[in-house]
Amino acid sequence: MDWLTNVLFPGGRLLGIEWSVWKVVGWLGNAVFFSRFVVQWYATEKRRQVVVPSAFWWLSLAGSGLLLSYSIRKRDSVFIFAYAFTWIPYLRNLIIHHRHNQAHLDCPECGAACPPHSNYCFACGTPVRPDADAVKP
Ligand SMILES: [Zn+2]
Repeated sequence: MDWLTNVLFPGGRLLGIEWSVWKVVGWLGNAVFFSRFVVQWYATEKRRQVVVPSAFWWLSLAGSGLLLSYSIRKRDSVFIFAYAFTWIPYLRNLIIHHRHNQAHLDCPECGAACPPHSNYCFACGTPVRPDADAVKP
């Protein structure tokens, strides 16, 4: 198992990184920021169409916030600029997401958010309005 120790603890440090509280903040930011891709990919594969769940924007906001605080701490102007304004579209998308979801009708069968004036769930065909059968062609 010496090879594993050499891979995980090169130079006696975890992953060869000189750890500090701010290194943890920075790497946590990286992990959170990266996880948004996993979440978005999973949501897209699950629905078999391109989906950007609100979790993607929350993770973007949290991850970039952590990375911004790390870059400010490190006084790195390049990375401060890279994360200084990204929260604006993230927040805007969350607001739009929220408004959009409020106007939608949740399918009682599968939970899909259906457009405001739909009679049937686009995903499973279940009536989403009590009077849906009345307007069935
Ligand atoms: Zn449904």
